[in-house]
Amino acid sequence: MDWKILLPGIPVGSSRGALGWCSVSLLRLAGKLLLVDTGSYGDRGQLVSRLREEGVNPADIDMVFLSHFHYDHMLNFDLFPKADLYLSERERHYVVNGGFQAAGDPYVPAVLYPLLEPRIRLFSGEHSLLPGLRTIPLPGHTPGMTGLLLEEVGVLFAGDGIKNGREFAAGVAPPVFGDPNEALASYQQAAARARIVVPGHDSPFRLSEAGEMEYLGNAQAEIVWGGEPERLGKMGWRGGITAAAQAETPAAVPGRGESRPPDRGD
Ligand SMILES: [Zn+2]
Repeated sequence: MDWKILLPGIPVGSSRGALGWCSVSLLRLAGKLLLVDTGSYGDRGQLVSRLREEGVNPADIDMVFLSHFHYDHMLNFDLFPKADLYLSERERHYVVNGGFQAAGDPYVPAVLYPLLEPRIRLFSGEHSLLPGLRTIPLPGHTPGMTGLLLEEVGVLFAGDGIKNGREFAAGVAPPVFGDPNEALASYQQAAARARIVVPGHDSPFRLSEAGEMEYLGNAQAEIVWGGEPERLGKMGWRGGITAAAQAETPAAVPGRGESRPPDRGD
């Protein structure tokens, strides 16, 4: 059994739109190669490179777990032609029955669903995907949002059930397109079940029995300006970090908190 974060989740956004840098992880378990989410379109090259560094040919991936059907977690599925694609029944319903439209959720590329459908393997609720690997419903962000718990080591791949450690520690729900109460109950569920959380858009963190959280890494990414250097100043570019991202990461695990409207992020 082995798990590795191939592409680190990074909690950044932009005034141009969401960057969608989500966590993509590789599990080797029970003789299978499984990916947890497949990232956004701009991740394609990096994803293939990282797999090859791990000695894995994309065509050899057996299973792809899709935490939910937001574009930044499920594009690139076509890179894995042999893989079964695992999606919760509740998320399928949200995608194909118009729930995402009613919720005002702009991040669901429902037009792609028929392309995936022949390979989709549906599951409901808590389900043993492989020995020692359980699906854990974490609804709220979307109704069918689901995490994966690697039971032997207590690692929870949380998808956007937990987008980042700052929100989780403060008890502030991620952007909610489902039920806000469910979103906060999902935090409680995660805290009760996980020893290590891999958030949807942040570095992994450990949860102690006392409820303290400790980051296990500080993933970095670089944004590179490709134009004439002198134009950068003329454009009034405001590079760097917004106030939200600068906020100190609180150390406590959430109890209760307030939800906020789905105003940003995916
Ligand atoms: Zn999402």
